[in-house]
Amino acid sequence: MPDTLISQIAAGEVVERPASVVKELIENSLDAGAKMCWVEIEQGGMKLISVRDDGCGMNRDDVKMAFARHATSKIFTLPDLENIRSFGFRGEALSAIASVAFVKIRSRHRQGGAGKKSEIGGNDAQEGYEVIYKGGVKESESVCGCAPGTEVVVRNLFYNTPARRKFLKTEQTEIAHITAVISHMAIANPFVGFELKCNGKILIAASAIGEADLYTAEKIRAAALLGKDFLEDSSQVNFKTLSIDIHGLIGRPGMTMSSKRHQYLFVNGRDVTDSLVARAVIDAYGTRLPPRNYPMFILHINIDPKEVDVNVHPRKLAVKFLETQKVYRDILQAVEQALDGDEGLSGRVDSENQSIGTVQGAMEFNSQFSGTQEKRQEGLELQTVSANIIGQIADSYILIFDEEGLKIVDQHAAHERIMYEKFKRAMSENAPVKQPLLIPFNIECSREEAVFLKQAISYLSAMGFEFDEWSGNTFVMRACPANLKKENLQKIFRDFLDDVMSERQKEKILPEKILKSLACKSAVKFGMKLSREEQEELLAELQKTPNNQTCPHGRPTRIILTFNELEQRFYRRK
Ligand code: ADP
Ligand code: MG
Repeated sequence: MPDTLISQIAAGEVVERPASVVKELIENSLDAGAKMCWVEIEQGGMKLISVRDDGCGMNRDDVKMAFARHATSKIFTLPDLENIRSFGFRGEALSAIASVAFVKIRSRHRQGGAGKKSEIGGNDAQEGYEVIYKGGVKESESVCGCAPGTEVVVRNLFYNTPARRKFLKTEQTEIAHITAVISHMAIANPFVGFELKCNGKILIAASAIGEADLYTAEKIRAAALLGKDFLEDSSQVNFKTLSIDIHGLIGRPGMTMSSKRHQYLFVNGRDVTDSLVARAVIDAYGTRLPPRNYPMFILHINIDPKEVDVNVHPRKLAVKFLETQKVYRDILQAVEQALDGDEGLSGRVDSENQSIGTVQGAMEFNSQFSGTQEKRQEGLELQTVSANIIGQIADSYILIFDEEGLKIVDQHAAHERIMYEKFKRAMSENAPVKQPLLIPFNIECSREEAVFLKQAISYLSAMGFEFDEWSGNTFVMRACPANLKKENLQKIFRDFLDDVMSERQKEKILPEKILKSLACKSAVKFGMKLSREEQEELLAELQKTPNNQTCPHGRPTRIILTFNELEQRFYRRK
């Protein structure tokens, strides 16, 4: 098979669309120690992609070699592959790209540059060298004038592979992919500056962050690209053991989204997606996540390169952890800690350093982000509750106000969370507060329900229930948790049984399901009139309850209309 054909086949895997070219080229720039990366595109990258950097550059021989298949300066032996820290390592990106486009590379070795390259050969820092390829065939090469660093210009991508070209989407879609690639890389590399120009217009301008420690730099960069709101509505993740370092930002409960768009995961600096990590994050949110919602996160995971296989995906979009269970547990714990540590209902991430970041070009991201504003649910304290209760409306919501604004509490969601946390505590500590029933009552069960009750009995008694089994499928309840209202007990328990049975797909009894279901069935209903005292009591309880920003299904327990918002809505301020 001719070499160009082999490269074209490889291109099918490496180069899916213009954004994958941009990614490979930026990775090369980062590997070359660049401090700044300028990207330009036209027609969504289909007509032109240019990536220029101020990295170490290449000498003449290196430029000539760069397009050979498996030309890589980064890997020489198998142990190298296991310890890989650079982004590239297969040496196939440039040759693949060159085989399906017109490519021009210009490079000038930087004297005393990032020093990755050997100084053997014609190290000529005085001038640059240029090579032009067309469809994988060299057209010309010559000495040229250029700044130290490297520039790769890719024109007419897929001109010779019409099937590929047809597969491309609209210009807007390709631009969106490219913007996403660059913002991911910019978030992962705060000490490197990035600029994206699209049809002559600057879309992203993120200047390199100079003097700051890594974590601060990462926060500044995240704010620059995703907006200050992102930072303010996030908790910090900070988890370190001997084998793993997990840090970043995670959206507070209530700041979740209906898409996975704002999930950024970097494993040893590599921008990847990983279902194990996503699952661990979701599990850490647990009941704080509404159905069909996704948490927002930026997670940097640093781990011994030997613990992770980076060579499992042609475009390097995924990695494989060797010890998946351990990594799962670490992430779960890291995120849980971050979310729990943030229960104080106010507490804002300090925003003192944000102004250092350059925020132009982030408008697009900001506006995308503010699309989630209506979902925002502020975690603010319900201070001096009883003094400020306005009252109940529609037999369903309790209204309060304080110096911040108007707070609207969903009485069912709030009470559900209160009950859930009480039951959960009793269950986990096995320290129930019981109330004996003066008149025990019978529970008539189906066979199936009886089987369930017997299996669930240890959980239920940890919560405060006491049963005798009379005969077959009839149980007698002798005591129940103290916080249940005895008047409704029979109905609550029946509803609970119906609920768990209807959803019981697996044989396994999930204590979580028992907790949620009982919390739901025993909570005050939506549409139930509450006396003033009951309203006060509910709010006071809510204030003392952990995770009180959402109900156990992740819906908010309250929303707030700030005076600021009111002024904006009445156009009292711009
Ligand atoms: P890989 O990155 O896997 O090594 P590539 O095909 O992407 O393979 O690049 C081939 C080689 O070309 C690299 O190993 C590197 O030596 C050189 N190279 C490519 N881009 C640059 C750049 N921007 N600056 C310096 N050297 C580069
Ligand atoms: Mg590469």
